[in-house]
Amino acid sequence: MITRQIDALIGGPQYAATQSEKDAALTPILRELCREVADGCPAYGRFLDKFGGDPDSWRRPADVPPLPVSMFKRFLLSAAPPEKIVRELLSSSTSGQQPSRIVVDKTTAFRQSRALVAILKEHIGNRRRPFLVLDTADSTAAGDSLTARGAAIRGVANFASETVYAMDRDSGGDLSIQWDRVGDFFDRHRGVPVLLFGFTFIVWTRFVLEAERRGAAFDASEAVLLHSGGWKKLADQAVSKDEFSGRAAAVLGAAPKSILDFYGMIEQVGTVYVDCEAGNKHAPAFADVILRRPLSLEPAEVGQTGIIEVLSTLPTSYPGHALLTEDLGELVGVDDCPCGRKGKYFRFTSRVERAAIRGCGDTFAQSRELT
Ligand SMILES: [Zn+2]
Repeated sequence: MITRQIDALIGGPQYAATQSEKDAALTPILRELCREVADGCPAYGRFLDKFGGDPDSWRRPADVPPLPVSMFKRFLLSAAPPEKIVRELLSSSTSGQQPSRIVVDKTTAFRQSRALVAILKEHIGNRRRPFLVLDTADSTAAGDSLTARGAAIRGVANFASETVYAMDRDSGGDLSIQWDRVGDFFDRHRGVPVLLFGFTFIVWTRFVLEAERRGAAFDASEAVLLHSGGWKKLADQAVSKDEFSGRAAAVLGAAPKSILDFYGMIEQVGTVYVDCEAGNKHAPAFADVILRRPLSLEPAEVGQTGIIEVLSTLPTSYPGHALLTEDLGELVGVDDCPCGRKGKYFRFTSRVERAAIRGCGDTFAQSRELT
C-alpha cells in the first residue's frame, strides 16, 4: 500500500504540491515506514518509543522524532538482514572522524536512483548530454561500498551520453586535473549543452583556482555545473556562494545561474535539494525539510534560521526518514517562491558547531545488535 504511494510520489511532479498537501501525503507514509524500520532495528525502536511515542499520534511530519545524523557514525543502524544488503554507503571521512555507514537494500537502491533522476529532470531537463566529471574515475569504482562522491557521480551519470573524468591521481594519491583532457572535451562539444559535476571544494581548488592561475577559460555557454558537498571548507577560505558561482561561470564561459548547488547527504542518497532559479532549495514530493530552532527544536517560522532536518520516504533498510543534520538554514518561505515551485523553500546558511544531542547515543548503546 505505502509502496504504491511512495512510487507515485517519485514518479509524479516533484514541486507541484502545496505544503498542506505535502504534509497530508507524507504523514501516513512516515508513520508506516518508521514502524517497519523500528521492527527490524531494535535500537531505533527504542529511540522511537522514547522520543516519538506511538506513530499513530503523529499529526504532521514535524511530529516524527528526528534522529541526529551523527548516530550513523557511531552505530551501524540496519533494519534489514545482512543477505538483503546490496550496498554500503560511506561518508567521505575527514581525518580522524568515523565515516557514516549506511546499509542499502534493493528497494532503497532502486528508489534512490529513480528519485535523483526525477529531481534533476525538473532542474536540468530530460536529455542526455556529454558529462565531464570533475573528479577521478576511481571515485565511482565498483565494489560493495560506495562513497558519497561516488554515489552522487553515478546518480548524475544517468543524464550522460558520454562520460569523461577530468582528474587522475598522481603518484602521491593526490587529485590532478588533466587540462588536455578537459580542453579536448570542450572542443569536441562546442556550442552544445554539456553537464559537469564535482564536489564543491574539489571544483573550487582543483578546477576554478587552477584554471584562473593558468589563465584557462572555456567557451561552454551551454554548460550546467552541478556541485555538492558542503560549504564548510569554502567558508574557511572565505568564499561565498555568489563568488563561487561567478568565478566558476567565468571559467566555463557560462552564466552564473547555470552553476547549481545541491544539498544532500550520504544518509539520504537520492533526496537532494537543488537551487531553483531564485536561489532557493525546495523539497521534492517524496521528501520534506523542517528548520528547527536551536535549543527548543520547535519548527522555525518563515524568516527564521534553524537546524536543517531532512525527511525522506526512500529508505527501507535503515532509519533515515527524519534526520537532524548538523547544518543551519533559513526558512525563506512556503508555497510562494518566485520560481513557481510549491512547498517550503530554504537556504543553507552554515554548519552547526558541534551539535550534540544527548540521550540518543545512550539509547542506542543499550543494543546488543549494534557493532
Ligand atoms: Zn524556487
